[in-house]
Amino acid sequence: MKRIQTLLGDIPPEELGITDAHDHLIRSGGMEVVHDRDFLLDDVDKAVQEMELFLKAGGKTIVDMDPIGCGRNVPKMLEIAKRFAGRGHIILTTGFQRGEFYDHRTHWVATCTVDQIAALLVAEIKEGLDLHSYNGPVVERTTAKAGVIKAGTGYGAITPFEKKVFQAVALAQQETGAPIVTHTQFGTMAMEQIELLREYGANLEKVVLSHVQRNPDLWYHKRLLDTGVSLCYDGLYRVKYFSDNVIANLIHELVRAGYQKQLLLSMDAGRASYQKAYGGGVGIDYMLTVFVPRLRSEGLAESAIEDILIHNPARIFAIDKA
Ligand SMILES: [Zn+2]
Repeated sequence: MKRIQTLLGDIPPEELGITDAHDHLIRSGGMEVVHDRDFLLDDVDKAVQEMELFLKAGGKTIVDMDPIGCGRNVPKMLEIAKRFAGRGHIILTTGFQRGEFYDHRTHWVATCTVDQIAALLVAEIKEGLDLHSYNGPVVERTTAKAGVIKAGTGYGAITPFEKKVFQAVALAQQETGAPIVTHTQFGTMAMEQIELLREYGANLEKVVLSHVQRNPDLWYHKRLLDTGVSLCYDGLYRVKYFSDNVIANLIHELVRAGYQKQLLLSMDAGRASYQKAYGGGVGIDYMLTVFVPRLRSEGLAESAIEDILIHNPARIFAIDKA
């Protein structure tokens, strides 16, 4: 039986609907916020407002990718999920961001064994999320479970700390069947992430790489997809990097080349200045109100749009259960 683990419980994959596969509703702290207050997303009402706009535009599910130690706030996420009961779904992640956000010498990822780290991730998927996000010695599990595992690497290199995380994440996947969604920094180290995950025994068909569009090299993306992983494009309307046509063209080219079953889409609106509810930006709904209609008007087949928004996330986020 295949089930997707949302914050309010398991759902059949057909229930998932139009999905934003990598976004941020709440980030209550962490190193990103220390560096730049724009990363602070701490308001439940504003998160509800932002998700409401996404639903109004036809969306159903948001995958929140704030992991352990980076401001993940389980109680607030549960509150948001409850407000959308019966109307929308939220999937929350366990796992880690890129190594830069943790102390490589004293963090428990550094001091624990790979098996111990993997066991903590497995517990969040099988038993329930820790209300304190493993920030301290007290672990209090809710009945809500993580539905995805995150791992990340920095720009152009993978540190021993990050390798350890990748090993733990691959083990946790083998134990649970949960999908892995990774962070690449500007799209670098994507192939190296795949090689690590393969070496550690991960199922590449349940692996999604994020932010690879920041390195918008079609040849490179095809090589990545040929390994069996999927790519989640995000960062629409980030014109400071490049305009949307770069991402649209990648999608058109890859669909033409037969990769439409391996593409997902998201906004990754992880800054207050990207979200309408905080008074800035084009909002999470932009992907549905502007970008998808644009793809359609440029001739992208409806079957490709449905795969990218609905069927691919439903397949990848589904977990095999007895
Ligand atoms: Zn993100």
